[in-house]
Amino acid sequence: VPTIGVLALQGDVLEHARALEGAGARTLTVRRPEELERVDGLVVPGGESTTMWRLARAFDMLEPLRKRIEAGMPAYGSCAGMIMLADRIEGGVAGQETVGGIDMTVRRNAFGRQVDSFEAPVPLTGMGDTPFHAVFIRAPWVEGVGDAVQVLGRAESGPNVGRIVAVRQGRLMATSFHPELTGDHRVHHYFADLVRRAIEED
Ligand code: GLN
Repeated sequence: VPTIGVLALQGDVLEHARALEGAGARTLTVRRPEELERVDGLVVPGGESTTMWRLARAFDMLEPLRKRIEAGMPAYGSCAGMIMLADRIEGGVAGQETVGGIDMTVRRNAFGRQVDSFEAPVPLTGMGDTPFHAVFIRAPWVEGVGDAVQVLGRAESGPNVGRIVAVRQGRLMATSFHPELTGDHRVHHYFADLVRRAIEED
């Protein structure tokens, strides 16, 4: 059974831990470098990326997170977590840093200018035949991706049709939306499988 950490500096940590356990993983909340060392993979939850970044810096977690991701630790970021895993952001506050890892540009609060929160069906590659009921809360979208990034899902309807909202690059993945809020654990299953495969490969 893989141990999957949930970065617990800020955000909806408990909901991710429950969803991961629903997907058959053991979970550990991660606030310190010693805790990060003990996990096979990491979820970076939704919340507020500016706060998460400031806390990650204050807790001396930015460099340990970057190092583990560079060394091949699987990671999945949802919403603010997607922002944290992006190599480049638009609409950040002055000086806002990310952990990075996914070769993409993410726009903060992108949907929020039109509507703060909404729900929409999003078909996801490799996660079953029925669209995922995606909950977006002041969500980012992906402005652009590099060649190594696989697009797993796009907004299907509304004014933002075609926008990229789910991606994967190797062992890293990210969604604009919050799959931990719906009771549908397909995204967490997909990530837990990715973590299991990474353990076998290493
Ligand atoms: N708007 C938030 C940010 O910029 C993300 C919102 C969320 O995670 N639900 O970090």
